[in-house]
Amino acid sequence: MFVGLGCPKYTPSGLFGKFNIFSHIINQLNKITFKIFLFSLFFATSIHPEKKRLVILSIDGLPGYFFQKDSIYSKYTPNLNKYFSLATTTFSGKSVFPTLTYPAHTSMVTGKLPSAHGILYNSIPDPLHKYTENWYWYSEYIKSKTLYDIAKKHKLKTAAIYWPATVGARIDENIPQLWIAKDEYDNPLFRIIAGKTWNWLSERYNIKLNEKSSDQERIDAGLKIWKYKKTDLMLVYSMEVDSILHKYGMESEELINVLQQTDLWFGKFVNELDLYKKGSKVALIVVSDHGFQKSEKVCNPNLILKKMDLLGDDYWKYYFHSLGGVAILLKNENSEDLKTEEQVFLSENLKPCNITTEFSGKNISRAKSEIDKSIEAVLLSDGSIVFRNSAHGELVEDKQIFTHGFLPEMDSMRTVISVFPAIKKQPKEITDVFWISCKWLDLKCN
Ligand SMILES: [Zn+2]
Repeated sequence: MFVGLGCPKYTPSGLFGKFNIFSHIINQLNKITFKIFLFSLFFATSIHPEKKRLVILSIDGLPGYFFQKDSIYSKYTPNLNKYFSLATTTFSGKSVFPTLTYPAHTSMVTGKLPSAHGILYNSIPDPLHKYTENWYWYSEYIKSKTLYDIAKKHKLKTAAIYWPATVGARIDENIPQLWIAKDEYDNPLFRIIAGKTWNWLSERYNIKLNEKSSDQERIDAGLKIWKYKKTDLMLVYSMEVDSILHKYGMESEELINVLQQTDLWFGKFVNELDLYKKGSKVALIVVSDHGFQKSEKVCNPNLILKKMDLLGDDYWKYYFHSLGGVAILLKNENSEDLKTEEQVFLSENLKPCNITTEFSGKNISRAKSEIDKSIEAVLLSDGSIVFRNSAHGELVEDKQIFTHGFLPEMDSMRTVISVFPAIKKQPKEITDVFWISCKWLDLKCN
């Protein structure tokens, strides 16, 4: 105290001497402490350099053709365009079969096809209409190792915002997608399934995430978690582009608005992550799960099964489960195999749908190996028609539909995969996201 205030001037000489020795000792100690501090700082930075961190951002339903040369859409997305040009990017990325949100997102975080990871469709086939919302919400359906499981094993901190099929996942900060009412009525549900993170965001930042929340809110939530919870791996799922495309299609004013909004929050997101800062250890993968296709007709193949007495209101022997541009035929485990004449009858009666019906051949083999070996037949659309699960109404209906679920090789189903900082090898399939992530985070994923 005396040392700092210069008080010894007025202190009796005897005491002055004592304080002088005391001040000398403190000075020496301070010097030593300061040296130890510098020494530890040097070793802390050299032994533990800044850790690599990774964000995987999914923009649901963003078709690759939106960014191809001469596209009319890319002028609305300057921030995304800048990112794509600096990153290693493909606009013809291949999704998985089926090109549906839940299987595709699970393939991104497992590196596997649906038959291997277990999330086969968005929703569980429901021939007797038993369920209200029978989506594959729960991580316990996933049969293979996920990126977030592996990251956790390597003692990394993980987070996920609204990522599909993560209810119950062992992610440190997790708000999974789930709904009953799709509005504030679901908030108590989120307090149960995502309490720690959900309440923290709600109480501190007034962000109360549910199905009704905007992408902007989901991004804000992600940024708070990234900044204050210091996560090493974060998965963020945005869904407004997909919702608007399903509702209004590719030629709508609404689409232009949502692309502009998406680009705005994306620009802010990239800035807040300090992505382009020199020496940054943050990587960002931007990926989408599938493209979009416009169709002019709807086909209801279950009407024919009903006609053949193979499907009723309270029983089922066979059932067509629609995936959008593909429908698969499922057999009740107690049912006998379809006889050849029944197969012929089915194919003949489905002719007005103007589709391909396969009971054998390469597409059925593919469906069995990539989705589920119990699939009995596959119906394939050329893009002009989509399937519905309904067993009511007309077999073919004129109706304009914007959707996905076609074969992943179809041009309109091709999607965006982009990796920053740039890498040597261009990604080709959405399963590559898993392997690229493993490499960046130095994880043993094999
Ligand atoms: Zn999707």
